This record gives sequence, C-alpha cells and structure tokens, in this order.
Amino acid sequence: MLEAGADVVHFDVMDNHFVPNLTIGPLVCEALRKHGVTAPIDVHLMIEPVDRIVPDFAKAGASYITFHPEASVHIDRTLQLIRDQGCKAGLVFNPGTPLHYLDYVMDKLDMILLMSVNPGFGGQSFIPSALDKLRQVRKRIDDSGFDIRLEIDGGVKTDNIRQIKEAGADTFVAGSAIFNQPDYHKVIAEMRAEMAKVG
Ligand code: ZN
Repeated sequence: MLEAGADVVHFDVMDNHFVPNLTIGPLVCEALRKHGVTAPIDVHLMIEPVDRIVPDFAKAGASYITFHPEASVHIDRTLQLIRDQGCKAGLVFNPGTPLHYLDYVMDKLDMILLMSVNPGFGGQSFIPSALDKLRQVRKRIDDSGFDIRLEIDGGVKTDNIRQIKEAGADTFVAGSAIFNQPDYHKVIAEMRAEMAKVG
C-alpha cells in the first residue's frame, strides 16, 4: 500500500469492549517497524481503558496515538501521557460524540479524527453529517492557531474524497475503497486527482 502511494499507515486497534470487534495490538505495530516500515504509523485506539497500553504502542513505534474521549476518564492526562511518550496525540469523535471535548485541550492536540461511520467494522457507508462536523472542526483549528491535523475515517472513496477535502479534512483514511480494488496504485492516484481539484 505504501508502494502504491499511501503516506501513512492507519492502525485500527479494537478490543471487543469499547467497540464490538477485535483486531491487533502493539506486537503487530512493532512487527511493521521491524519489517522496515518507516512511514508514520497512526494508531487509532478503539479501546477502553486507554492509558495502560499507551507506553506499549510508543515503544512499538507508533507516530500518532489517538483515542476516543468516552474511553478515558482523564482526557487531558491521557493526551499528556501520549506526548510524554514521544508520540503525537489526538482525539477521535464518533458520529454522535459532541465536539465540546475539544474545549480545553486544543493546545495538547496534534490530530483530530472524525469518524464518518460508527467504529467497529470496515466497509460501511460515509455518514453525510460528518461533512458539517468537519467544517465546524476546521474552523476551531483555524481559530486556535495550533498545528493540528484533521483526519476523517470511514467510507472515504474516490467519489466523495473531494467533498470531504472541501469540508476541511487534510488526512484521509481509506480501507475497503482501496483494498477491494485490484490496482491500489490506480485508486490512490484517482483519489489524489480528485483532491487536486480542490483549490
Ligand atoms: Zn480508524
């Protein structure tokens, strides 16, 4: 996938508790690094609790660690913990999660990830209300003056990526849209061409 033009490895960690599915942990992250992956690894934690496993992912080579505010009792502390471990920190918002969790922690964020599906499974369709939420978060980031990436995760495809970029996203997670096609180069090139149409 990296050879085909992807910039970042998005790494979905699910625990069958915070979300109804089970995926991979720090050992697989470490294995990617040992395999020679030098691209940023963007660890999206869909787990509860969060803090105990943060140092494990930092040691395993994570670049970004993001978590859901509902999954941590002390959001400010968890963000600080991630940065103290040498990683970039981020918060993730489910489609129904309000943005007020951002109110007092903008200075501790390197990434804001908006879910455009409910987390747990690949292959779901993009929830349109995510576009308005993207615009709201874009404004919050611009008003804050901080250098914070705005990432979107869920149902991103060639035919909606332009709209998503127009709404303010700068980082795009695509899974089945690419994996389900025979030619990864071609899909990623088409996505980049669509994004290039945005001024
Ligand atoms: Zn994800």
